[in-house]
Amino acid sequence: MRAYRAGLMAAVAAAGLVVPATPVVAAGHAVPPPVSSRSTAAGYGGAVATVDATATAVGRDVLRSGGNAVDAAVAAAATLGVTEPFSAGIGGGGFFVYYDARSKRVHTIDGRESAPASTRRDTFVDPATGQPYAFEEARISGLSVGVPGTLLTWEAALRKWGTRSLAASLRPAIRAADKGFAVDATFRQQVLENAAVFAQFAPTAQLFLPDGRAPEVGSTHRNPDLADTYRLISRRGVEAFYEGPIGADIAAAVQDPPVADSPPRPWPYLIRPGGLTTTDLAGYELRFPAPTHSSYRGYDIYGMSTPSSGGTAVGEALNIMERFDLRHTPPAKALSVHLDASALAFADRDAYVGDDTHPRVLRELLSDRYAATRAVVQPDSALPKPTAPGELSDPYGSVRPPTAATSGEKAKSTTNLTVADRWGNVVEYTLTIEQTGGNAMVVPGRGFLLNNELTDFSFAQRAGALPDPNLPAPGKRPRSSMSPTVVLDDGEPFLAVGSPGGATIITTVLQILFNRIDRGMSLSEAVAAPRASQRNSDTPVAEPAFIAEYESELVALGQPAFRPIAELGAATAIEFQDQRRLVAVAEPIRRGGGSAAVLCPAPNGACGAVDGGITVTSSPGAPR
Ligand code: GLU
Repeated sequence: MRAYRAGLMAAVAAAGLVVPATPVVAAGHAVPPPVSSRSTAAGYGGAVATVDATATAVGRDVLRSGGNAVDAAVAAAATLGVTEPFSAGIGGGGFFVYYDARSKRVHTIDGRESAPASTRRDTFVDPATGQPYAFEEARISGLSVGVPGTLLTWEAALRKWGTRSLAASLRPAIRAADKGFAVDATFRQQVLENAAVFAQFAPTAQLFLPDGRAPEVGSTHRNPDLADTYRLISRRGVEAFYEGPIGADIAAAVQDPPVADSPPRPWPYLIRPGGLTTTDLAGYELRFPAPTHSSYRGYDIYGMSTPSSGGTAVGEALNIMERFDLRHTPPAKALSVHLDASALAFADRDAYVGDDTHPRVLRELLSDRYAATRAVVQPDSALPKPTAPGELSDPYGSVRPPTAATSGEKAKSTTNLTVADRWGNVVEYTLTIEQTGGNAMVVPGRGFLLNNELTDFSFAQRAGALPDPNLPAPGKRPRSSMSPTVVLDDGEPFLAVGSPGGATIITTVLQILFNRIDRGMSLSEAVAAPRASQRNSDTPVAEPAFIAEYESELVALGQPAFRPIAELGAATAIEFQDQRRLVAVAEPIRRGGGSAAVLCPAPNGACGAVDGGITVTSSPGAPR
């Protein structure tokens, strides 16, 4: 495998495709740090990539002061709760994937929101009409709020694999919330997009619409309530949230939404209460599922199992693609194979994957034997879309597939981060509150938004279709597309990658892997390259640059024309090269550009000179 990669890199270098190493981000100060928005950083000793310069700097500072990848990931995630409050925070959930250098094993935490005990199969059906609610009607309500898992995820990750306390990990975020940070164009834009719904709730309007207006770019945004919430958690532990006053406030907000007295603009729907209780919060449990595993051209691909469909869909598509020599296939034909593999994987994902899909079904979906039955793909002639799900040997137990694809478009919410430490440990973490702005309710006095994750359930069984694996039920977790992925090469990390983007997360992660492994791109190029998303649809979406470059050739091969979409995803990734060199990559442009940092520009020694002295002391993980 090393040989495959070396050969590929040689070919890339010969073709002049390597992006020159970007200078590393220089060492900063405590929060709020000097902001750098470099999207690629290469070097040694540890690396961080997030969507946000403040969070990246916090993660880097934790690594620099001796913390490991888990410590840095939790501190960065807590900071994202402050600086990216519309995408993620303690009101939501996520999936944490951890590669442990000592054991060379990949572990996962499923911190997905779960449905309260009061959830019914018809929770998202309007009793007055018998029809499913409109999406926004369901979203902006208490009905959409699942029991959050993010805070417990942080606590468990630190306890199992970290070296620092939760209180220490929240400290930089508390500083950021107290002192404030400069509003950027993305933050302002996300408020503007949500202005109508944020105005419906008094605490949300107070926090994010000061004087009734979205904060100006360059103004300072502070969140003292969130600082106090984090401080309370620091003092009293996660119990303050799951069994204490914060949880009581969450349940109260869900059951009696904190609507504003006279919002400037009326909202067209009734704002319905939900049934989440303090008992639901007290009963929430993390899960620690085995990662999904498949192989691709000799690499081991580890991803997230159910309730995410990410691990199986990415793995199945790669298994189908692996049957073709895509490195030596002309670009448009290779892309056509990739798009068809993605469509087939989505047909199966929609039909078979939900929270309670049997592990046997997941194993079959990820098997090469099954991929062989799905390899109806031909480089010269595209599959008609939508295509039917495949035939599994014993597919459903009690669950049967629907008859057609159901994947919808999603807004640009959620966030992803990637961290590696000097010991070789790696974290790939995707966390979300579902839509940008979640359900738009800030918990009164607590400074964070609630999720609307339960709208990831199918709202209703479609008439005439076979049973849907993703219908709501008490305690069930809605199907996700989040795809934090760690790729190993002979047991050592090669790549870690993830992205937001709803169901397009799967296609973004898949496309980055395809770009990097098969298309001769460096990791920076693989992330920056224009994207398309084929989710078993006859109207797939693609970014304008992708359409300009490939659409005519793809249509000539029988692929459907693309619907333009401004951007897909907001990925972060790290590549692990020979001699422990790390390349951390965030988006150069999408969602305003992300931020990547490494600890040292050169192998140890030079690092001390730049960063004011890194001392490598006792190791929380084995040296590689
Ligand atoms: N709720 C989505 C999921 O779990 C993620 C939302 C997004 O990325 O836009 O798949």
